[in-house]
Amino acid sequence: MSIIAKEITKIYGKQKALDAVSLEISAGEVVGLLGPNGAGKSTMMKIISCFLPPTSGEVSVDGFDIFGQEMEVKKRVGYLPEHNPLYLDMYVREYLSFLAGIHKLGKNKRSRINNIIDLTGLGLEQNKKIGALSKGYRQRVGLAQALLHDPSVLILDEPTSGLDPNQLLEIRSLIKDIGKEKTILLSTHIMQEVEAICDRAVIIHMGKIVADDSTANLSSRTTGNDIIKIEFSDTVEAESIEKIIGVQTVKHLGGYTWEIEASPEKDIREDIFNFAVGHKISVLSLSREQQSLEEVFQTLTKTNEPKE
Ligand code: ADP
Ligand code: MG
Repeated sequence: MSIIAKEITKIYGKQKALDAVSLEISAGEVVGLLGPNGAGKSTMMKIISCFLPPTSGEVSVDGFDIFGQEMEVKKRVGYLPEHNPLYLDMYVREYLSFLAGIHKLGKNKRSRINNIIDLTGLGLEQNKKIGALSKGYRQRVGLAQALLHDPSVLILDEPTSGLDPNQLLEIRSLIKDIGKEKTILLSTHIMQEVEAICDRAVIIHMGKIVADDSTANLSSRTTGNDIIKIEFSDTVEAESIEKIIGVQTVKHLGGYTWEIEASPEKDIREDIFNFAVGHKISVLSLSREQQSLEEVFQTLTKTNEPKE
């Protein structure tokens, strides 16, 4: 287990930003921490990266405790903070070299910096001032900074926020590549991002985890049903459609068009075709809508309003 967080609570003044959050992430996993603004994502990430102590709870990274073994944890964690604060007056290579000094990379310093510049695609920019770079390239510098000391765990706080669509795809694909070698926890409020990069999504809302599942399962773990719209070539009886296994409700939309709600466990489209054949009619059109991860997320976060 790469990251183990147990019952993390963080209280700012009177506000509870995290409420007994537990999270375990295995080595090599790429996990998305999803949630709306104010959910507690950044707080959680700062705590795991040893930048902020929790009010209560325990966290260990690769077996090292954030209390008492902070230096060991920091060696193993690369952290890209939200808004990626950088020294805009420094040159890219100069900045990385400065950080290499802080990390005491010693004689490996030069080759390590070269590797990281290659990996993050900063070759052409290495002698430019950070302030002169586009947001996408600044984000690469942020990733280079997080990766420099070769940590096994990367904590990336909204790594693609504020990027234009091309930069966004580039950074996502870079993170995906890096994820082949490292354990990654990244935060975002963009659903497609998790679907694109992560194996697993942890959804957090108002300081509590409301869902934790594989991205594939979360998309299919619909709290609602499949909605199938179908147009037959002739009249059918609602009662006969209801007999198809898996069908839950049947609604006549007019003409020969119906809306069928079916449980999501089974794809009933084939049964509908067979049904039509059995009734000697044809299917003129059929569409199936599944609840997207976006909708799953909305459902989960709406139904978990905290009770005072
Ligand atoms: P997220 O990253 O999901 O947007 P944060 O972890 O930044 O959420 O914030 C969680 C909650 O804690 C928010 O309501 C925020 O206003 C509050 N909060 C965060 N940092 C501080 C702070 N330093 N002082 C007071 N409240 C804070
Ligand atoms: Mg945040």
